[in-house]
Amino acid sequence: MFNNIDLDILITKVWSVAIAGKNDSVTGNKMIDEICKKTRPRYHFLFGDTDSFFELEPFAWPESNRTTRSINVAAFHSKKKWAYAFVIDVRGSDRKLEADQSSSLIPNPYMDQPGKRSFSDFSSKEDLGSSSKRKKAVLPSDCHFCFTNPNVEDHMFVSIGNHAYLTTAKGPLSVPSGDMDFHGHCLIVPIKHIPKLNMGQEEFFESALRKELTSYELSVVKMNHRKFDMSTVVFEIHSDQTIHFHKQIIPVPKYLIMRFQDALDRQVYLNNERYTTNAKMNFQVFSSSENQEYKEIIGDSKKNFFQFTVYETSQDEPLIYLSQFNVNDRLDLQFGRRVVAFLMRLPKRINWSSPVCKQSKEQEIDEVKKFQKGYSAFDIAS
Ligand SMILES: [Zn+2]
Repeated sequence: MFNNIDLDILITKVWSVAIAGKNDSVTGNKMIDEICKKTRPRYHFLFGDTDSFFELEPFAWPESNRTTRSINVAAFHSKKKWAYAFVIDVRGSDRKLEADQSSSLIPNPYMDQPGKRSFSDFSSKEDLGSSSKRKKAVLPSDCHFCFTNPNVEDHMFVSIGNHAYLTTAKGPLSVPSGDMDFHGHCLIVPIKHIPKLNMGQEEFFESALRKELTSYELSVVKMNHRKFDMSTVVFEIHSDQTIHFHKQIIPVPKYLIMRFQDALDRQVYLNNERYTTNAKMNFQVFSSSENQEYKEIIGDSKKNFFQFTVYETSQDEPLIYLSQFNVNDRLDLQFGRRVVAFLMRLPKRINWSSPVCKQSKEQEIDEVKKFQKGYSAFDIAS
């Protein structure tokens, strides 16, 4: 066969075995797997399944900046989605990993993954609680939230605690506003490489990690409110499919926060009615984190859910919006940014890697300096 050559777009009628493994209704051909491994296409379009639209979350290739998206488009004028619009950047390989910082990458289905989980990993009750059995296909050394990754972007760290750290966001969604002379979009990340907070451990509610994450969250909410008179939206995904759990925290001008429910409703409508292959969103609202029903959901390690926490001020209890999904559902990983971007009327800033969001390393360092100046009086680690 031919030598390795990187392709931007690959079109095949037949599916690869690896991608077919993600969809029960088709079978694949090993030849396509070999072609994909040698060409690492940015977009792999398939049309072997003429009756449905299918899009797999992007995945990365080792030792490269490339990611691949695999999309099956239905037959022309069929009832299913038969067109796919996208923008491709063909400028080359010097770009940072084309991954979403919100860990949207799934394990590469073409790679042998010794740590990959199988159903047998969940065969006994003990296994559910055993973190050693739940190794992710993306190892800490390749994870962009893990300290053991030599390429971790530690120039963006704001504060490091015992179990978690606070970092500014790559390609921030929010923009400087009012007295806040920095973007303010930040992430709280557990130091440990875990996909979700509730891994079935005992004393989940009392765990030191959970407490420290909450302390970090409240400290940023306090800074936003007390120092800059801003409200705050936090969003997080609790899913077995996530690579490394994190919370995203975004300051929102107070006059906009009242419209959060409208912004959420609008995006839920689009998600459920227009992007029909996405997991359906159906948010329950809780006015307290002590609500019994809420605690039962988050206390169940088998649940997967998307959560917004909306703080109008730092004194009042926040409103919690929670939508559950099945672990194999296709979740729109940009949903959180989509809602907040719509709320803040910043539609061009949905994607962190778009040119309007991108910052140079110097700008990122400057952002951290300004953030730390505003945050110093609230830092829980100091
Ligand atoms: Zn990690």
